[in-house]
Amino acid sequence: MKTSRKYNSIKLLIISFTVIAVASYFIINIFSQLYLASRLNILGTWRNKTDQISFDVESFLKEPVDAVSFSSVTVNDMLRRDASTDEIQKYLVSQRQIYSSIISDNTTGIYGYCKGKYLDGSGWIPPKDYVPTNRPWYISALHKRGEIAFTKTYLNLQTNTYMISVSKLLDDNASVLSMDFFLDNIQNTIAKTRQDHMVLDAFIINSGGYLIASQNKDMIGKYLIESPNKQDKQLAISIQTTETDTYDMNYGNHKASVFISDINSDWKTVVVLDQAKMFASLTSIYVGTAIVLTVIIVALSATFIHLNNRRKESERLSSEVNAIADIYTSVLKIDIKKDTISHFRGFNELKAVIGKNSTGFTKTSLYIAEKISAPEFTGIMRTFMDSDTLKSRLGDSMSISQEFKDINNCWIRLRFIVTDRDDYGYPTHLLLAFESIDADRKQQENLRKISETDLMTGVKNRGTGEQLVREAVNEKTYGMFCLMDADNFKYINDTFGHKVGDKVIISIADSMKNAFRDSDIVFRLGGDEFAVFSPTVYDKETGEKLLERFFMIYDKVDIPELGDHRITLSVGATLYADPSDTFELIYQRADEATYDSKKISGNHISFK
Ligand code: GH3
Ligand code: MG
Repeated sequence: MKTSRKYNSIKLLIISFTVIAVASYFIINIFSQLYLASRLNILGTWRNKTDQISFDVESFLKEPVDAVSFSSVTVNDMLRRDASTDEIQKYLVSQRQIYSSIISDNTTGIYGYCKGKYLDGSGWIPPKDYVPTNRPWYISALHKRGEIAFTKTYLNLQTNTYMISVSKLLDDNASVLSMDFFLDNIQNTIAKTRQDHMVLDAFIINSGGYLIASQNKDMIGKYLIESPNKQDKQLAISIQTTETDTYDMNYGNHKASVFISDINSDWKTVVVLDQAKMFASLTSIYVGTAIVLTVIIVALSATFIHLNNRRKESERLSSEVNAIADIYTSVLKIDIKKDTISHFRGFNELKAVIGKNSTGFTKTSLYIAEKISAPEFTGIMRTFMDSDTLKSRLGDSMSISQEFKDINNCWIRLRFIVTDRDDYGYPTHLLLAFESIDADRKQQENLRKISETDLMTGVKNRGTGEQLVREAVNEKTYGMFCLMDADNFKYINDTFGHKVGDKVIISIADSMKNAFRDSDIVFRLGGDEFAVFSPTVYDKETGEKLLERFFMIYDKVDIPELGDHRITLSVGATLYADPSDTFELIYQRADEATYDSKKISGNHISFK
């Protein structure tokens, strides 16, 4: 039972750990998948944001690029027609008016160099030392050979704003049309990214590596690689060398994700993000959820283990209660207020006595007492069951009990157990429990007999015999007391052996058992010495008759090993008839009489 319980506990523990391990494995797996998915989602969001910046910038650029492209078509046509510079100038002024309504915020108007002359749609007159073919807008257009060209970013000293020029070489390979374009919108777009605390840097860089717009205004118009910051230099190199549009790098002390998005063939948007900040919310969400889940799992496990322990405890308790209950063969319930007695368990034996249903307790208590007990115990049981005195007998005790023999002569212990009391402490509910103690009693009886008996002969031992004779003397039970001693017993032992000696001792005891009554106290004093007290033998004649009967029985004893050898006994007898006699006096007289008998050979009785 114990081993199987222990085995069950280990089994339960293994199951619990397996469930927790499997659950943890799946939770960790799901969490890492979710984490990766969320990471990708965040990365995707920033890819979109970077692309959106490129898209916005491209839209801003579209207007001046379109303006220069469209105007170039017309001016190319005019050049082919060999139109005058005045004509072209007029055209540029008219274009300026058109564009001013659309893109006046961002541009100064179209200007150019045609037929060796600087022409300006906005009417700006350059200073005398102004050499158009030396200007960046002219040179970059020349480099691009008819493609749209962008100059480097420069600071317009008049407006103190950053600008670029969009220019295009015309078909004569010498004339160029150009439009200046304020970078405010683009710079604002980049500057806006500052609002995101996870953005370490954001800028627009061209293929040559210089910055068109940047979060760091000081760097606008400069080469990123020239930045005093080491991390900017590393970043500049990585932009040049890395082919992917998203990659990770160490940016100063930060682990960074770099997003690159093309605006056009020349420009790129670059956004550098702090990974720790980018994924911080994610980490806290998942770590938080993992902690909560762990706490829930631990709490559930603890609850499970606690409940299991409680179940085990209650199982143990109920088996203990059953073990106690099993002691009682029958139990009746008594409700003192309602004055009822009814069955509770093991009812069968009592069915005939109290009937099927509950019945009045005061009415039936004495009847039950009589019906369940052996005749000699009826009186005791009537007193024990008496409902009138029950309350006072119980007092403050938990229970009272009485042992008796039932109608089958079996020993029973009957016990009233108080299960409930009223506010004044009087018992209101009782159990009447029947406990079979027959086996115990029989065992006790056996033990008692064994302890009182001389084991070799089966008669009482010296202690018990003397005690019983003393009691008889105390009670003035008059009678005859005799001592007997085998003559020359040592000779038997020496000649025939100890075993034969034992047979002789047993034969004396058996003869005494046969000759004397059960009510006589026969006992062995030790060795070859015996004693008997026979109450009701009041005179010498009766005594002698009784002893002669004993000798007749003893003479018939046949011990083959002895052959013809007879063992005679010397008997000393005395009468206990004087109330002033004590046990010691009686014993002394019997001993003296034995001594007298010893002097005479053969079986002999002496009285004193
Ligand atoms: P007496 O006629 O004077 O009584 O002589 P005795 O030889 O019988 O001497 P006594 O009664 O004093 O000795 C009894 C002997 O009995 C002493 C002992 O060796 C022997 N004896 C005592 N108990 C046992 C026993 O249980 N079995 C046997 N076989 N012998 C015993
Ligand atoms: Mg002897």
